[in-house]
Amino acid sequence: MTAIRKGSSHAICLPDYGVTLDRSGGDEGHTFISHAHADHLPRRGGGGPDAAIVATPPTARLMRLRGYRGEVRELPFGEPLELERCRVTFLPAGHILGSALTWVEGKEGSVLYTGDCRTPPSPASEGFKLPEGEVDHFITEATFSLPIYRWPSGEELAAQVRGFALKSLEEGATPVFLAYSLGKAQEIMHLVAPLGETVQIHNAGHKLCGIYEEEGIDLGRYEAYDRDSCEGKILVCPSSAWNNGFASHLRNTRLAYCSGWATRDGARTQLTADELIPLSDHLDFFELIRLCRELRPGKVWITHTPNPAVVQHYLKEEGIASDVLRKNGKDTQAGEEDPS
Ligand SMILES: [Zn+2]
Ligand SMILES: [Zn+2]
Repeated sequence: MTAIRKGSSHAICLPDYGVTLDRSGGDEGHTFISHAHADHLPRRGGGGPDAAIVATPPTARLMRLRGYRGEVRELPFGEPLELERCRVTFLPAGHILGSALTWVEGKEGSVLYTGDCRTPPSPASEGFKLPEGEVDHFITEATFSLPIYRWPSGEELAAQVRGFALKSLEEGATPVFLAYSLGKAQEIMHLVAPLGETVQIHNAGHKLCGIYEEEGIDLGRYEAYDRDSCEGKILVCPSSAWNNGFASHLRNTRLAYCSGWATRDGARTQLTADELIPLSDHLDFFELIRLCRELRPGKVWITHTPNPAVVQHYLKEEGIASDVLRKNGKDTQAGEEDPS
């Protein structure tokens, strides 16, 4: 059996295979980056001379646009990379554009690592695909690790997003979607594109939109946020920008908070949002259990979770062995730079 351990700075290491999953910088074999969110990117800006960072082509481009200066070897989905002691293949993870499941096959057992993932996939991603073959070790995040997290269907969420935008505009108000700049913002743009209205997006997200369009994702009509012309358009910005005065000169705005955390009681009062849309780019609790049931791995390794015991309880009822991936007895908590 191959060893799995939590490395430095939240990286996950497979030392027998010379493979590191996310968050390293080059001195522990090959580092496979699952996607371009900050909590998964290489810890150092460049990596040493031996750094071998591997990512899908869209992830590599998003990383560079977000400031990564090191070398990145691009590995497209479905093309196996043969290393000395194992073979590694990326498969679409449905989380954001370019996001990948990492599938590692070798003599000491197979490992499937999710990074972050979503089933059903985000409509603004390449889809979701499982490997063919037995999974010995399944390493998965469990951000939404309680049964209170159950998302509405994709159709219901799309209707809620479009309905909020149209109703606000009809009432003469400017709709503002609070959504993370990479992934969620473009998903909302894709969902409102059929309305034919112009979207203005905060600069942090705007610079990433071209890569989505190059990969064939329709983002409709959009432009960068402009204080003087934003009134009456659909606005998209991260919560942090809103708190820093984004569009604060407009008197008549309607606010929609888009996140899996919008499911929680009290989120409305905390955020004074007019609408809570539980639009997440992670899988919900039941999708996670279903995925484990479908895969039937030798063992599930849980990471990035506030409530591993609840997940483990449900897995045990399914007859699936599980463990929590800990470093020095502590698990990584979800939420740190994690745009869920
Ligand atoms: Zn992510
Ligand atoms: Zn994450």
